[in-house]
Amino acid sequence: MAFEWNNIINKVKTDSTSLHMWLEKSTALYDDATNKLVIEVPSQLHKKNLTDKYIPELLSLIRPITNDSISIDIDIKKVVNQKIDISQKITIKDVQISLPLDNPAGHIPYLNTKFKFDNFIVGHSNRFAHAASKAVAEAPGQTYNPLFIYGGVGLGKTHLLHAIGNYVYEKNPQTKILITTAEKFIIEVVAHIGSKKMDEFKEKYRSVDLLLVDDIEFLQKGEQAREEFFHTFNELSNLNKQIVATSDSPPQELKLEERLKSRFAAGIIADIQPPNFETRVAILRLKAKEINKVVPDVVLAFIAENVDTNIRFLGSTFSTMIALSNQPGFEINLDLAKQALKLTNPSFESNKKIGIDLIQQVVSEYYGIKIQDLSSRKRPENIANARQIAMYITRNLTEYSLVQIGQYFGGKDHTTVMHAIKKVDQLIKSDDKFKATIDELMVRIKK
Ligand code: ADP
Ligand code: MG
Repeated sequence: MAFEWNNIINKVKTDSTSLHMWLEKSTALYDDATNKLVIEVPSQLHKKNLTDKYIPELLSLIRPITNDSISIDIDIKKVVNQKIDISQKITIKDVQISLPLDNPAGHIPYLNTKFKFDNFIVGHSNRFAHAASKAVAEAPGQTYNPLFIYGGVGLGKTHLLHAIGNYVYEKNPQTKILITTAEKFIIEVVAHIGSKKMDEFKEKYRSVDLLLVDDIEFLQKGEQAREEFFHTFNELSNLNKQIVATSDSPPQELKLEERLKSRFAAGIIADIQPPNFETRVAILRLKAKEINKVVPDVVLAFIAENVDTNIRFLGSTFSTMIALSNQPGFEINLDLAKQALKLTNPSFESNKKIGIDLIQQVVSEYYGIKIQDLSSRKRPENIANARQIAMYITRNLTEYSLVQIGQYFGGKDHTTVMHAIKKVDQLIKSDDKFKATIDELMVRIKK
């Protein structure tokens, strides 16, 4: 190819900032046989936007330096890098969404001040990792060293790593903190190797008090960097300087030299598991609070129910729903949550089981109350009774746990749900007319 893709990207950086945003993380390949330029982008959203809006612009950039008959294909990268933030500004069905920009700290390069302990929800799945991180942040180099945090994508590893950095910085701004990713480390080693600057590089790493390294699994790819990392690691540990690393797998499963693995294992290893339902609801509630939005519990529960493995997707589904709700005439409700889910998760299927929304609809219609009343905390007798009946039916017709049902019905705790179910159960046994009503409702729902 007669041109460098990166030059094109750099050119649009000044000419067209919005196009640049969509191209920033792209790579391109020229296919001789078809005379096509295949641009690979990180997400479906990138693909859709570029295809819908920017093909003519791209062609006008490329044709003058290639040939007039070249065409463009936009493709999603085979291995989607989950770390890529989809964008700062995304367009979905003509809605402009402005997501908060990552907020790089003023003082420590690459330290993201958005990630704090204060906005980290602690649950069963991350309790130990959180506690270990907090202990390390309170007294770097004095408790767990090194601290090794591992877990799946989007479960809060980076969040905890930055939270440690932010906490230490706020408590003692003199602490020399260096936060990086193993990928960045490798790039630096490669760039410096053999040059006089290598000493500078070594000095930079070896003079820190707190070294935070994200995504250590990348070290599997860089042999020289591994060597360099090992020495840095040793020197820092000998000086009692704190090291924290995150990874997608435990040390023993990484393809690294034994000596490096056993170095990690010498400290403490904490895993993060996918959050349970309650934690997911709590995270969503926090997100709503952060932007001062009132979001009904039933909506939070619905999103939490349907996004259950990755906290990043939980966040993006929530932001998408909020963005949709900012259009005139839209309100935050189950329908909107469903739309947001469909947009952020194309494989989402809303009618795979009897939904609580259907149960609530049938019960509220039957008793002539508003559907929202069922998920409110209102106490008038007719509403409270209908709510108890709806809870009972949910328990019988769905797989939801007591805790989940409580969330859907106004944030009740599971003992309240249990009490409601018991009460309805007793009534069914003692009152034939009541039993007939419940049967009738169940039939309507199952239809
Ligand atoms: P990982 O590094 O494990 O892939 P991140 O730390 O980047 O995941 O987390 C993904 C998103 O989820 C971030 O926006 C983060 O703030 C959020 N997040 C993860 N865990 C929590 C939590 N326990 N409480 C609040 N937000 C969380
Ligand atoms: Mg991460």
